[in-house]
Amino acid sequence: MRPFLQFTGDNHSMFGAHTDFLQHTLATADDTVSPEFSILSAGTEVTLLDCGVLRVEPNTACDTSVVISCAVHGNETAPIELVRDIVRDILEEEQKAGQRVLFIMGNPWSMSIAQRFVEVNMNRLFTGDWQQYDTTLKEVKRAAKLEAYVANFFAEEPVTVTKRFHYDLHTAIRGSKRERFAVYPYVAGRELPDEQKGFLARADIETVLLQQKEANTFSSFSSLRYGAESFTLELGSVKPFGENDLSRYSGIDYALRELVAGEPLPAEPKRPVAEFEVCHSIDVTSDTWEFFIPDDALNFTDYAPGTLIWRDGDQEYRVGDEPEYIVFPNPKVPVGQRAGLMLKIRR
Ligand SMILES: [Zn+2]
Repeated sequence: MRPFLQFTGDNHSMFGAHTDFLQHTLATADDTVSPEFSILSAGTEVTLLDCGVLRVEPNTACDTSVVISCAVHGNETAPIELVRDIVRDILEEEQKAGQRVLFIMGNPWSMSIAQRFVEVNMNRLFTGDWQQYDTTLKEVKRAAKLEAYVANFFAEEPVTVTKRFHYDLHTAIRGSKRERFAVYPYVAGRELPDEQKGFLARADIETVLLQQKEANTFSSFSSLRYGAESFTLELGSVKPFGENDLSRYSGIDYALRELVAGEPLPAEPKRPVAEFEVCHSIDVTSDTWEFFIPDDALNFTDYAPGTLIWRDGDQEYRVGDEPEYIVFPNPKVPVGQRAGLMLKIRR
């Protein structure tokens, strides 16, 4: 039987008058949130550090620090609902907490208005790049704070911890021929470990894009600065809160819950994970630049050798000797910015 106190209708007093982590995050975006601390019956320490930032630490020896972030784009709601529910189940002691975990809901202001962002795309602000923006903007300040929370989380590790993971959860506006995929940030000299392929396969993610350049995403930050095995995970499509079919997310939910519980990652993937690498970055070169990919092209649409992708005067790009795949096509960006990436399968 569950203890009487948990039948109050609230998940936990940690969130005050608010029902859960999500509601608390939405309601306190502009408040100064003083830390709330709680010890569960199993000895797990749970600390609400700030709006949308919650740390879980088991009182048993653990070997991994895990950052699970969502809502770096506020309208990508399915992962936010997954995180809300995992946090609820930890607080209600229905989900075992066997590893240190830092849960983050990234952008509460854009969550409130169901937009990707309010003023600045937060997933371009990390690895310190927020310093190049107006630091009075909420999202710029928030990116700086999130970097600090992650830094502290890793700095405060007990000596038993030897592994750092970060899964930054997203959904996409554009459809994809491969419904779910991971982006593995570039760090010179590293290879994607088999156990992380095992995690991806367990999460029903059968595609991974290996970046070839350092980036300024949240997952790049934890990889580059703290040596974390980190990923941006694209898990499905953007829908409003409450309209997600969470059964489509059962793979990632299961994989995260196993990890949080302290289960080891599979030594190798139970199904193959296809690895793609960037072979060309599509940049808008001038006002006369033309793009030959349709506006509604799905991510991972394949193009045959020789296909014309873009042209600008006497410059052009055609697919090379083997098929190439487009991701993130968006020609409506200013001159000088990236309009998409061409990929090939890594052999
Ligand atoms: Zn996103």
